[in-house]
Amino acid sequence: MLSLPMPALWSYLLRRLLLVAVPSLLLALMAGLTAGLCLLVALITVLLALHLRNLWRLTYWLRQPKPETVPEARGPWGDAFVALFRLQRKAEHGAELLREALNRFQDAGAALPDGVVIMDSDDRIEWCNPLAEEHLGIELPRDRGQQLTYLLRQPHFVDWVTGESYERPLTLRNARNEGRTLMFRMVRYGSREKLVVSRDITLLDRAERVRRDFVANVSHELRTPITVISGFLETLEDSASGADGEALDEQSVKRAISLMRSQAARMQQLVEELLTLSRLESDAAPAPAEKFQVRALIELLGRETETLSAGRHRVMVRIEDDTTLLGSRSELHSAFGNLASNAVRYTPEGGEVELIWREVDGQGVFTVRDSGIGIAPEHIPRLTERFYRVDKSRSRETGGTGLGLAIVQHVLTRHQGRLEIESTPGRGSRFSAILPPERLKLSGRGDGEG
Ligand code: ADP
Repeated sequence: MLSLPMPALWSYLLRRLLLVAVPSLLLALMAGLTAGLCLLVALITVLLALHLRNLWRLTYWLRQPKPETVPEARGPWGDAFVALFRLQRKAEHGAELLREALNRFQDAGAALPDGVVIMDSDDRIEWCNPLAEEHLGIELPRDRGQQLTYLLRQPHFVDWVTGESYERPLTLRNARNEGRTLMFRMVRYGSREKLVVSRDITLLDRAERVRRDFVANVSHELRTPITVISGFLETLEDSASGADGEALDEQSVKRAISLMRSQAARMQQLVEELLTLSRLESDAAPAPAEKFQVRALIELLGRETETLSAGRHRVMVRIEDDTTLLGSRSELHSAFGNLASNAVRYTPEGGEVELIWREVDGQGVFTVRDSGIGIAPEHIPRLTERFYRVDKSRSRETGGTGLGLAIVQHVLTRHQGRLEIESTPGRGSRFSAILPPERLKLSGRGDGEG
C-alpha cells in the first residue's frame, strides 16, 4: 500500500520551506524587501516547475505503463514512482499467472479424448479444442463467433442444437467424413452458455453393426434346417396318428429321415464352425509353435480331398519343399482343408484341383489351384467376411456355411501369415496361404523332426 511516513513528509516540507524562505529572508535583510520577495517568487516558481515536470512524466508514463519505464525522482515523487513500479510488477505477475492458467486449461482441453466446443447463448462458438475442430470442421480463430449450425448443417444436427436437447445425445453417421460416426452431448452451464461434447464412436458403431448382422445371419442360417426338420416331423406325426388319412409308405419315410439327417448335419456343421471361429477370436495370443512336417499334412489333405471329390475331379498334390513348420497343426489342417474343400465344391465335375506346397523367399506357401467357376474381382476383398458368399444357393447346396474363409483368415493371422486370392470367372482360382519365415524351421539346426 502507498503510504509516506508522516515524519518523512514533515521533514521534506520543512526542508523545502527552509530552502525557499532562508535565502529570500537573507536577501530581504541585505537588499531590501522587494528583492527578498522577488527571490521568494522565483524559488517557488522553480519548485512548482519541478512538480509540474514530475506530473507530466507521470501522465506520459501512464499512457504506456511498464515497470521498466517508471520515471525516477527524489522525495515524495520518488516514493510514488517506486510504489507505482511495485504495483505494475504485481499486475504483470497476476496477468502472467492468468496466462499460465489459461494455457494449462487449453493444454488440458487439447489432451481430452473428446471434442469440446464452448458456445455462448446464441450458439456462437467461443472456444473449442483441436478434436472438436476435426470433428466439426471448425477452424479457430477464423470461426470464433460463428454459429455452430452454420459449420455443420446436417438437419438432424441443426434440430438437435436448436432444440436444446440436453438429456438426449445425438448419434450422427457420416458426419462430414464418409463412414465416420460421431456422438454429441450438450451440457448447459453459466446463465445460458452451452458446452457441446463430441466423441468418435465409429469403431463402436461398426462393432455393434457387425454383432447385429452376425446374430441375424446365424438365425437365418438355422431357420431353414429347423423349418425343414419340423415340417417333416409334423408329417411323420400325422401319418403315425392317422390324422391325415393315408400313412406314409416306407420309401417316403426313409426319404424324410435322410433329408432331416442332412439338415441336422448342416446345423451341426454350422455350430462347429461357429465354435471354431469363437475359439480363434477369443484367443488373442499367437498360435503355438508346435513342430511338424508339412509333407505328412499335405499328403493327408490330398487323400481327404480325393474322398470329398469322390472321383469327380482330377486331384493332384505337389510338394516342392520338405518343410518343418512351427505352428498349430490342427488349426493349419482346418485352414488348408477349408481351401481344399472350397476348390472341390466350386469346381464342376471333370475339373482339376491341385494342392501345392513350396518355399518362396523363405516363406511357406500353400496354394490350392482349381479350374472351377472362379470369382469376379469385386467379391474378392469381401470373401473372408463371416457369411459372405458370392452365390448363396451354390454355397448351401454344397454344404457351405459362409464361415470357411473367415476361419482361414483367423488361423493365418494367428500365425502372422496372410491369404492371397487370384481368380478369373469361368477359369478357376488360386488361394495361397502364406506363412512368414519365422514359422518355418530352418533345416540343418540338428533338432530332429517333430
Ligand atoms: P462357403 O461355406 O460358402 O464356401 P467360404 O467362407 O469358404 O464359405 O467361402 C466364401 C465364398 O467364397 C463362397 O461362398 C464362394 O462364393 C467363394 N469361394 C470360396 N472358394 C472358392 C473357390 N475355390 N472358387 C470359387 N468361389 C469360391
